[in-house]
Amino acid sequence: MVDDARPVPVLPWLAEPLRRALETQTAHALLLHAPGGVGQFELGLLLAQGWLCESTAVPLGQRPCGTCASCRLVAAHSHPDMLVLLPEALRESLGWTSADAEEGGEERAGKKKPSKDIRVEEVRAAIALALTTSSRGRGKAIVIHPAERMNPIAANAFLKTLEEPVGDARFVLCTAAPDGLLPTIRSRCQAIALELPPAELAAAWLRTQDVAEPEVLLAGCGGQPQDVLALVQLGVDAAAWRAFPGRVAAGDVSALRGWPLPLAVDALQKLCHDAASVASGAAPRYFAAETLPRRAFALGALLRWAGELRRVAEFAEHPWNAELSLESMVEQGREALQTPRSTQRRSEIDSLHLRR
Ligand SMILES: [Zn+2]
Repeated sequence: MVDDARPVPVLPWLAEPLRRALETQTAHALLLHAPGGVGQFELGLLLAQGWLCESTAVPLGQRPCGTCASCRLVAAHSHPDMLVLLPEALRESLGWTSADAEEGGEERAGKKKPSKDIRVEEVRAAIALALTTSSRGRGKAIVIHPAERMNPIAANAFLKTLEEPVGDARFVLCTAAPDGLLPTIRSRCQAIALELPPAELAAAWLRTQDVAEPEVLLAGCGGQPQDVLALVQLGVDAAAWRAFPGRVAAGDVSALRGWPLPLAVDALQKLCHDAASVASGAAPRYFAAETLPRRAFALGALLRWAGELRRVAEFAEHPWNAELSLESMVEQGREALQTPRSTQRRSEIDSLHLRR
């Protein structure tokens, strides 16, 4: 389901923020922040495309038109007045590998691991573009995602551009972690906050993406629809999510085989969170109550498991023996979920900081 009034497909919950930003925002730097999995990168791209759109027929708030010469260049990732700064490690998964990513190709072909940072060379390329004359006469647009991944040198170089705006370049910074940005960068951007989409809207959209029983996975992903698609791509459907607590409680590590470690840790942290909630008399949040293996969880054992999960989470993005970590996390989970309840203080739940 997309907004049918628009000439290009827009995630339904982004249509209104896009219209509003196009019609009202004149700042030369915008900061789009939202929980992960909501679509701030998509919105950033649409805004940039909308600013550059050359349509004479489509009103500002309904742009981009998707058919003008400028929109076609954006779609081909070859617009001379647009630059998208992404960490090398994210380009492929975001489908943004041509044109501006060519210089990274050499690196990919070599042995070097793709960078998870946005580096100063990339920011310098953006500054250079900002200083040139617009090729097509509608200014220049630069999208930075995720903005908090600019390394310190890159962030400082970018800050100088914000302090002394040049010419007709406009920037969109997309982030799920605004606190990870320099406060001086944050304060010089006009902030736009995106909320989680209403559950019904997100579920309806997921159905159009062939996700069956989307409510189950939507709960599992904290209401973040794009995260649901990431799970589905791993082969996780609603039935698999319902079976997940039981499989972990049985020590079945194959429940997580093939998952990237950060996603595996995240799912286990959610299970641990829900078991701890139930142990303290609260409702589970990510899993349906009836799918949890037992009600009489021991909070102490869950706390130990939470500690182990936190420890692995800290290193989840680093080279690590993922298989070994998975086995150890699932084994601890099995123990934690099967340890019978003993005397415990209800307030212990407050010391749990399970979510990243
Ligand atoms: Zn257009």
